[in-house]
Amino acid sequence: MSMNGIERKHSKKREAILQIIRSTQSHPSARWVYEQLRPHIPDLSLGTVYRNINLFLEEGSVMSLGVVGGEERFDGCVTPHPHLICTSCGVVFDLPDDFPIDFSLVSIKLPNLEAPESPPLTGNQEQPSAGFLINYQKTLFYGICSRCMYTLKLQHHAVSI
Ligand SMILES: [Zn+2]
Ligand SMILES: [Zn+2]
Repeated sequence: MSMNGIERKHSKKREAILQIIRSTQSHPSARWVYEQLRPHIPDLSLGTVYRNINLFLEEGSVMSLGVVGGEERFDGCVTPHPHLICTSCGVVFDLPDDFPIDFSLVSIKLPNLEAPESPPLTGNQEQPSAGFLINYQKTLFYGICSRCMYTLKLQHHAVSI
């Protein structure tokens, strides 16, 4: 295969991976992406999925929600929005837009914050006027989803009968 052919094959996989992350609201793991795509791209490897996702993270086209239930989860929607995470089954929801949380904090000048045990400023450095510049925010709420709550209730019911 020519160099161009290999390149094309790479970018085709890359596109498919990004596409599937953007097309789902499930906030998938790399393994989930791999399992969805493997029937369509037989020579796809889990390593390729990881490599491409890392690339997307670097260029900001995908964001990470951190590890949920032992697996890192990703979001194709990179506009900051809060998440609800079920600690029982690992389902991740976007918090509805009308949920009353105030994110105006981003535009507020915060007081000077000293990191614990930070070395003192040396020389004639000027003390910064604002203590922290927020570039992005990530808000995660942990709890139990309604499905798990229902299951727990059923189990509880079964035990008490
Ligand atoms: Zn759950
Ligand atoms: Zn999300």
